[in-house]
Amino acid sequence: MFIDTHCHLNHERLRDDLQGCLERALAADVRKMIVVGYDGPSSEEALRLSLAHPGILYAAIGIHPHDATTWNDAIAARFRELARMDAVVAIGEIGLDFYRDLSPREQQYRAFEEQLRLAKELDLPVIIHCREAYEETLSVLAAHPLPGVMHCWGGTPEQAQRAASLGLALGFGGTLTFPSAQNVRDSAMCIAPEHLLLETDAPYLAPAPYRGRRNEPAFTRIVAEKLAGLRCLDLDQVASITTQNAYRLFPKLALPP
Ligand SMILES: [Zn+2]
Ligand SMILES: [Zn+2]
Repeated sequence: MFIDTHCHLNHERLRDDLQGCLERALAADVRKMIVVGYDGPSSEEALRLSLAHPGILYAAIGIHPHDATTWNDAIAARFRELARMDAVVAIGEIGLDFYRDLSPREQQYRAFEEQLRLAKELDLPVIIHCREAYEETLSVLAAHPLPGVMHCWGGTPEQAQRAASLGLALGFGGTLTFPSAQNVRDSAMCIAPEHLLLETDAPYLAPAPYRGRRNEPAFTRIVAEKLAGLRCLDLDQVASITTQNAYRLFPKLALPP
């Protein structure tokens, strides 16, 4: 089986086709999915979906760097409450995005670091979003050692090894199939297998040959096939390695529903 460790079934582009997405995912042997929040409402929606589909959908709750200005004490208090539920497996997505810079960087740092402290307090792993801020993100994480994944990895192989040496997992998705993304393939080939995770980031970043179209969790399998080719592994081996890694990083994924 495969686990999509990062998708947005809480996004309006997927919400209306939830049943279809779940059927196609199960047909592709993608049996569990983490629905990742990016602001208050999408985190609540991730939890609602995971409660409606126990044992299949799980939730991560967090404030994305784009929405860093919405981070405040009231949201922190609400997250503390939600985090007690078995369905909430992680804090995320949180991090730094200096590519789009939709929130002032100072606010991005504040929301990121305070949510890292919250994750530590709640004993939950973190799902990290990072774009054009790899050095900055790795220094923050070196100062806040926590179990976590750098989702949609886009750094260099050297940065990948540094992330792995901090104990972090790296999430690989559709970009693994993009011709220009040699750094992503090189990263996926150079790190130890215990750091590999699969994801889609659906509805974004569909893998080839669906690039540019709406992504969905079933395509986790295409990413797994690409990873198997790169690492000279059978698809079954990729399934078992990445599933074990996901269970180790997100222990609540393994709880009985
Ligand atoms: Zn992201
Ligand atoms: Zn995402």
